[in-house]
Amino acid sequence: MNMIQEIESSFSGFLEKKDLKLTSQRRTILHQALRDGHFSAEMLLDFSKKQDPTISKATVYRTLALLKESKILEEQDFGDGKKFYERSQGRKHHDHLICIKCGKIIEFENEAIERLQDAEAKKHQFKIVYHSLKLFGFCKDCA
Ligand SMILES: [Zn+2]
Ligand SMILES: [Zn+2]
Repeated sequence: MNMIQEIESSFSGFLEKKDLKLTSQRRTILHQALRDGHFSAEMLLDFSKKQDPTISKATVYRTLALLKESKILEEQDFGDGKKFYERSQGRKHHDHLICIKCGKIIEFENEAIERLQDAEAKKHQFKIVYHSLKLFGFCKDCA
């Protein structure tokens, strides 16, 4: 199975437990949600409507909530209270640099930072469940 088939089958299992089906509209929305990068609910609505103009805003928002609940997508607040989403299933953990002028989002992974966070938590006998590190500033085009 490729990544998309794998996620499709796990989403369909998740829906089954809720007595829901992977309808063709939900499948279309899922496929659009698996694209690379970070997108808002409005952007997902646009992408999905381009594939199938009969898809409603309510269906996209409900499906988005299910994709979040099933941990296929992760919700990110990149400031301004605006919510963005990105695929988390089948991806490695990463953190973000966010340009406060143009909105560009750069992903990074840094083992040393990860280790420092773990060490800090350990010092406080704190068990980390998840973390989300965001650095806000200007990208090289906006600086
Ligand atoms: Zn910028
Ligand atoms: Zn990301």
